Amino acid sequence: MHENGTASTDHPDLSAFENVDFSEAEARDVVVVGTGPAGWTAALYTARADLNPLIFMGPEPGGQLTTTTDVENYPGFPDGLLGPEMMDRFQEQAEKFGTESRYGTVTHVDFRERPYRLLIDEETPVYAQTVIVSTGASARYLGLENEQRLIGKGVSACATCDGSFFRGETVAVVGGGDSAMEEATFLTKFADTVYLIHRRDELRASKIMQQRAFENDKIEFVWDTEVIDVLGDNAVEGIEVINNETGETSVMDDVTGFFLAIGHTPNTGPFEGWLDMDENGYILTEGATTYTNQPGVFAAGDAQDDEYRQAVTAAGTGCKAAIDAERWLSEHGTIEVPRAEPDRTPVEA
Ligand code: NAP
Repeated sequence: MHENGTASTDHPDLSAFENVDFSEAEARDVVVVGTGPAGWTAALYTARADLNPLIFMGPEPGGQLTTTTDVENYPGFPDGLLGPEMMDRFQEQAEKFGTESRYGTVTHVDFRERPYRLLIDEETPVYAQTVIVSTGASARYLGLENEQRLIGKGVSACATCDGSFFRGETVAVVGGGDSAMEEATFLTKFADTVYLIHRRDELRASKIMQQRAFENDKIEFVWDTEVIDVLGDNAVEGIEVINNETGETSVMDDVTGFFLAIGHTPNTGPFEGWLDMDENGYILTEGATTYTNQPGVFAAGDAQDDEYRQAVTAAGTGCKAAIDAERWLSEHGTIEVPRAEPDRTPVEA
C-alpha cells in the first residue's frame, strides 16, 4: 500500500493473469525455473531437504550445456563427459530425491505478495512460496537482416554443435572474447580456414586463449571489421563486411559458415520490473548470497552471473539458492494459499 492508502500499481503489467483462475492452482513451497546446472542443483538440494520442488524446464531443457560436446573441466570427471549426458545425470539425481520436473516456460510472475503467482506458458497457474530463478543465458546475435533466416543453414551460435558440418570449408567467427577464440580454435578441426572477425584491433580474450588462436595456422584474424549482412538464399554464400577504419565494405564470398561468439543475454525477461537487474538484464543478488530484492525469490547460475559462467559455478550458486530458500522458509514460514470458498448452496431435491 502507498502512504495515502491506495494500492500500489508500481509493478509490471498483470493483464496476463486476468482470465486465469487460480482458485485450484497447484501450490508449491519451492518452484525452480530453468534446468541448467544451477536449476537441477537447486532442485536436488531442496528435494533432499524435503521441500518437494517443482522445476520447469523452459524452452531449452538442460540449458547451454546441451549444445556442447565434451565437458572436461567439471571436477570429478577426469575423462570428461558429454554436455547433454551431464545434464541427464543432473536431472536423474534431482528426480531420484523427489524433484518433480515439467516441461513449460514461466512466462509471467506476480510477486506482489506471497504465495507468489506464476503463469506457465501464459496459461497454467501455479502458486509458489519461494522461487529460484535459474533461467540461464542465451547466445546473442548481431541482428542482421538475413541472420535469423539462415540459422541452421550456415548461421550458428554454437561451434561445438554445428562445426562438423563445415569440413574442408571456410567459416567466419565474430567476436574478440574467450568464446570467439575457443570457437575459432575448435572450428579448425573441421574447416580449412577460419576467419576471426573482430570489430577492434585488440582482443578481449584471456592471454592463453589468444595465444592458442594466434598459434593456429588455420585462423586468420580480420581486425577492425564488422559484419553487416549474411548472404545466401538457402545456405550461407558469403558475408558482407565493413572496415571500421576505412569505411570500405566488401564481400567475403568464400564463407559458408557464420558463427556468432559475441556474448550472451540472460533469460530474465519475465522477471523484469520485479527483480533488480544490471543494465544487461542480469539479476542482482545480495553479497555472496542468492537473495534478490524480492523476499523469497532467489537467483542462481548464468541468469545472475556474467562473470564466471561455468557449469561448476552455476551448480554452486544453485546449491546456495536451495540453502537460502530452505533457511528463508524455515524463518518466514509459508503463507496460506487463497482458495475459493466451497459452494455450500443446498442442492434442490
Ligand atoms: P565477451 O567476453 O563479452 O566477449 C564478447 C566479444 O564480442 C567482445 O570481443 C565484443 O567486442 C564482441 N561483440 C559484442 N557485441 C558485438 C557486436 N554487436 N558486434 C561485433 N562484436 C561484438 O563474451 P564471451 O567471449 O562469450 O565470454 C564471456 C565470459 O565467459 C568471459 O568471462 C569469458 O572469459 C568466459 N569464457 C571462458 C572460456 C574459457 O575459459 N574456456 C570460454 C568462453 C567464455 P569488444 O571486445 O569490442 O567489446
